[in-house]
Amino acid sequence: MIKIRIKHCSEADEEHAASFRQYAHTFHYPNIICVAKAFWKLPEGYLMGILAHEIGHILSDGKGGEEGANREMYKRYGIHIQYVDSEYGRNLEYISKEDIRTIFNRINIIF
Ligand SMILES: [Zn+2]
Ligand SMILES: [Zn+2]
Repeated sequence: MIKIRIKHCSEADEEHAASFRQYAHTFHYPNIICVAKAFWKLPEGYLMGILAHEIGHILSDGKGGEEGANREMYKRYGIHIQYVDSEYGRNLEYISKEDIRTIFNRINIIF
């Protein structure tokens, strides 16, 4: 099972301040997803949707960009990353409760 760590990063806070729908980034440290403080206030579907997308970037080694990240998660785990407009941002990643369960069953996320 792959292991992914989540870490607060002040650069992620700056990115979120500059661009509201930006809550996380990856490739700053190996196998770590950096998140802004605001990330922790997101409802579960968005929070896990963003994580799923960032994990997709790690698993696809950054190849294929945004689409490549989502494709990788579908190919490996059958996870379908959706894009939803809400008060938390336009076009934000979102996954279903079933896909959230799949993530917890298949990926070791260390919060
Ligand atoms: Zn960072
Ligand atoms: Zn991305």
